[in-house]
Amino acid sequence: MDRNEAVLRELNLYPLWKRRGAPAPIGTAAAAFHSVSSVSFDKPSGQPVEPSKAEGPVTGDSAAGEQRTVVVPAEVADKSREQRIGELDWPQLKAMVRDCTACKLRAGCTQTVFGVGDEQAEWLFVGEGPGADEDAQGEPFVGQAGKLLDNMLLAIKLRRGKNVYIANIVKCRPPNNRAPEADEIATCLPYLKRQIELIKPRLIVALGKTAATALLERDATLGSLRGTLHDFNGIPLIVTYHPAYLLRSPMEKAKAWQDLCLAVNTMAG
Ligand code: URA
Repeated sequence: MDRNEAVLRELNLYPLWKRRGAPAPIGTAAAAFHSVSSVSFDKPSGQPVEPSKAEGPVTGDSAAGEQRTVVVPAEVADKSREQRIGELDWPQLKAMVRDCTACKLRAGCTQTVFGVGDEQAEWLFVGEGPGADEDAQGEPFVGQAGKLLDNMLLAIKLRRGKNVYIANIVKCRPPNNRAPEADEIATCLPYLKRQIELIKPRLIVALGKTAATALLERDATLGSLRGTLHDFNGIPLIVTYHPAYLLRSPMEKAKAWQDLCLAVNTMAG
């Protein structure tokens, strides 16, 4: 039995890979996720939600002494909120996320999905937002894409929860699995930024375009962002495909494997 076969057997994937006649794995470890191309894409169902009202304006006294609405400029309001979030510890941050209604997503989801894993992890994987399974279970990446992510982790000898933290750009499930909108990302991102400050990972892997462009604060194609080491507040950041995309486009797993190799090499220093 060669090493490839041994790894595939260990992951219970050997017969699958053999039967399907998939291209030979790029490397021993790559086989661990290369061979799961039959896992179907779990498109969550659900009804669109009515956008709820944005955070309400504050009120103040007019010169005439009557109550009137004072609109706080968004930059001012957001800055102080971001600063407040930036001072929270883990329990405070978890509580604030749990109770958050700051954007319209919360009205349409079951619960917030904070993130999961080792709070002192060296590796941080960031996805887009919860899907139906994550919304139901309160944990990121527990559906079909999550199974593939777990296999990707195994391929580089990592395990969910052991030196790995997994989070999303937004904590609430967008309706009908749509991509989060700019205002939702802007409202939610301070939470993830605080998580990153508390975790202090040595490497961030952005899964998909939403995660990459939100963290890097620039719009670009995923293809153009792959293959280089980016920087997020002094932490190296690598961009790769989102596992849900890989389930739909299994041929791209070879490129995702290259990205994971770049990640491993970066961590190896
Ligand atoms: N897709 C994501 O981006 N995050 C999840 O948690 C699940 C699916």
